[in-house]
Amino acid sequence: MPTYTCSDCNMSLESINCSCGTELVHKTITNDNGDTVQVAECPNSHGKIKSPTCCGIDMNPE
Ligand SMILES: [Zn+2]
Ligand SMILES: [Zn+2]
Repeated sequence: MPTYTCSDCNMSLESINCSCGTELVHKTITNDNGDTVQVAECPNSHGKIKSPTCCGIDMNPE
């Protein structure tokens, strides 16, 4: 399971669960501007959220 860690202050976050109880899966997507965005997505197609941020930067899944 991924644990999100802030590379700046080292705060970590346990993995995030969907309302259906399934752990969200980390994905990197590319938006229309060509920017890559880190998201956490429910494998059961319930949608996705942006990865958590800390200190103004995306937290990295490990
Ligand atoms: Zn931080
Ligand atoms: Zn779900």
